[in-house]
Amino acid sequence: MHDDYGCDLTDIIAVVGPAIGPCCYEVDTPVFEEFASLTELKPAYFTKSLGHGKYLIDLKETNRRVLMDAGLLSINITISDVCTKCNSGLLYSHRASGGKRGGLIAMMCIKE
Ligand SMILES: [Zn+2]
Repeated sequence: MHDDYGCDLTDIIAVVGPAIGPCCYEVDTPVFEEFASLTELKPAYFTKSLGHGKYLIDLKETNRRVLMDAGLLSINITISDVCTKCNSGLLYSHRASGGKRGGLIAMMCIKE
């Protein structure tokens, strides 16, 4: 939005909706290493080692830090604390349903 539409980064408001939380997003070493290679963030910001090659990844915190690194103000970022797996009776969860899930939507707009 900044590069293509000239939006001032301090005017951009971001909301990260429900998603799998760090309570439930457990991965093994290959996934952890691939995930860590996708960002210049320190893994300690968004992962917790469980030992034995298992990790918990905090996707929401990762997104918050990526948005802040891009220049968004912390005060303009809202992150849902709802975990879709913990709340799979209310929201779709790939992990809770074994891949038999629906979809979620995302939206963005430029307000005049
Ligand atoms: Zn959870």
